[in-house]
Amino acid sequence: MPLLSNPNAFADYPLDKAGFRRRDAQWLADALQHEASQLALMRNLQPFCNEEGTVWFAGAARDALCGSEALTIFLGVDTEGRPHFAAEMKRDPADSVIADMGAFEDMRAAAGRLPDREVAMLGCAKTLLEWHARHMFCANCGGASVIVDGGWKRECPACKAEHFPRVDPVVIMLPVLGDRCCVGRQARFPRGMFSALAGFVEPGESLEEACAREVLEEVGLVATNVRYHSTQPWPFPHSLMIGLFADVADGPFTLDPEEIDEAIWLTREEARGALTGGVTLADGRRIFVPPPMAIAHQLVKAWVQTG
Ligand SMILES: [Zn+2]
Repeated sequence: MPLLSNPNAFADYPLDKAGFRRRDAQWLADALQHEASQLALMRNLQPFCNEEGTVWFAGAARDALCGSEALTIFLGVDTEGRPHFAAEMKRDPADSVIADMGAFEDMRAAAGRLPDREVAMLGCAKTLLEWHARHMFCANCGGASVIVDGGWKRECPACKAEHFPRVDPVVIMLPVLGDRCCVGRQARFPRGMFSALAGFVEPGESLEEACAREVLEEVGLVATNVRYHSTQPWPFPHSLMIGLFADVADGPFTLDPEEIDEAIWLTREEARGALTGGVTLADGRRIFVPPPMAIAHQLVKAWVQTG
């Protein structure tokens, strides 16, 4: 039941998170033992997959595979009533019965090939498992905190503080001037790759202000209007990418050398080529934009289609 048409990988979460039920520890324990429960395994934040997709185990197998103390996330219940979980496996899989059933796979690689609904679930599981690994102690008193609510909260037994999973908002925008859009590249990008501009939202900022600030800081252009496109949960480690178009006033590029190596304007025809395998610019260089898994790709694609 999609709320909106969202083209982004990791979006369109397919499960009912059962927010009221997951507060009940007995209900969660029963759900894990449910005869139709589905358990994904993760090790070093990588999902266990085979050629077809995620390898799902019965929830009741969790203790034998990972141990009863394994960090376990309740992902939600699907439309057929099957509870879904993800558990962290610390044991060496080579010594396990799963050794011949698949492999732990890099999340970006998995996201590029697995079914959309599995990408959304596994991305969510990665974000939560990583948050737990980095937030074992109470930010208020320094005491050890404990996992509750199926992994959607931590509590501090000493001072009773509650800690919720972190989400970092990031604006990612395509500056647009008439029939051209602006893309930039960072030194760390693969050779020839250009992308949308992006930056973290800072305290005290609206999304529009964050967008205008980043466009000015990174390429020296003044945003005159900001339009929303879509958002993308991005589990590296816990961002929410907020995709925008920024109409900008004409002017020369003034680059932030720490952020941007180069910025260029693309026509729609050039952008169309950059989306599909790459395009050769007038100066003879071959350039391209990120793959469809990235919201930057979807922003450029949507802009091309409006022309
Ligand atoms: Zn505390």
